[in-house]
Amino acid sequence: MIPQLGEEEAQAAAEAIRSGWVAQGPRVARFEQEFAAAVGSGHGVAVSSCTTGLHLSLVLLDIEPGDEVIVPSLSFIATANAVRYVGATPIFADVDLATGNVTVETVDAVRTPRTRAVIAVHQGGVPFDTAALRKAADGWGVALVEDAACAAGSTVYGQPAGTGARVAAWSFHPRKLLTTGEGGMVTVDDASSAARLRRLREHGMNVSAADRHASKQPVLEAYLETAFNYRMTDIQAAVGLVQLGRLPGMVAQRRELAARYHSLLADVDGLVPVRDPAYGQTNYQSFWVLLDGFPVSRDEVLVSLAEQGISARRGIMAAHLEPAYADVTPGPLPVTERITRDSLILPLHHKLTGEDQEHIAGVLRGLA
Ligand SMILES: *Cc1c(COP(=O)(O)O)cnc(C)c1O
Repeated sequence: MIPQLGEEEAQAAAEAIRSGWVAQGPRVARFEQEFAAAVGSGHGVAVSSCTTGLHLSLVLLDIEPGDEVIVPSLSFIATANAVRYVGATPIFADVDLATGNVTVETVDAVRTPRTRAVIAVHQGGVPFDTAALRKAADGWGVALVEDAACAAGSTVYGQPAGTGARVAAWSFHPRKLLTTGEGGMVTVDDASSAARLRRLREHGMNVSAADRHASKQPVLEAYLETAFNYRMTDIQAAVGLVQLGRLPGMVAQRRELAARYHSLLADVDGLVPVRDPAYGQTNYQSFWVLLDGFPVSRDEVLVSLAEQGISARRGIMAAHLEPAYADVTPGPLPVTERITRDSLILPLHHKLTGEDQEHIAGVLRGLA
């Protein structure tokens, strides 16, 4: 992933600096409104990262020590870490082989009476089946948090991923489609959740610093609960507003590049590239391929690609295999372990040419 940043972003950041207002202010407010509208949500609350957004989502839901929160192990480690930030216990669910996402069945398999929430991930941009999982979670009386870090521009049932989410957390890290350097957003449909999230990201204050400065009267703020400083800056939001305008074009280009990979790799036996699920479309943030009967191991494929100057990466990590989670003994996670062992992510960025893709496909074909 190479971030797609241009002169417009540089200008926007410079304007924010020249305005003299660099902390959370009017540009953050505009970015929140425009982002929420773009993903079909009622309210956006900008934060410093998706990780802090996930943390606040669990605080919003009053998840506490003793509670269990089901997460996929097959995700960036921040998904599981957020559960530990509130003192709760992450419980790892397995995933579907085609999408890399949890399903109603894999979540139900690890559900207990202590389960208070599920964080489901739209992994690498491939949406999970929101309709099915929301319905099941409602039936179980369990809250559903959407880790939409990778999902800007993906669609589910014809609508933007995140539409109708109780709470969804987004990332603007440079490894995602849309970037503000670092940054994130929490989207929610109801105004009272948005108000609590605004308070939680800003030290628990009942009035934002921006509103206090804008007021002509002296405003005495109160601190209603112990909270955090998870704010985004106006410099970041200025960049985010420009990036948001680029999103449809970025997604269209990635889908074209993915389609070319699909046709170039169609005749290579033992390689299964990621595709759109039946119910939605991925933004192809990650173009991963699963080795399925390929004669060479994943690590050897990575070495062969590197020797040809191609920087592919290992597939998505599995949190339960990392030292940070060595104290956890999860139930069987066969699909997670298979995907993390046998998949790799091919280069896909806005500078990738058709010739690059032919070269990459040619190296893979030579190994098959
Ligand atoms: C990148 C990512 C995160 C963390 O996002 P940050 O903005 O870097 O904190 C969380 N979850 C998933 C699935 C991710 O891919």
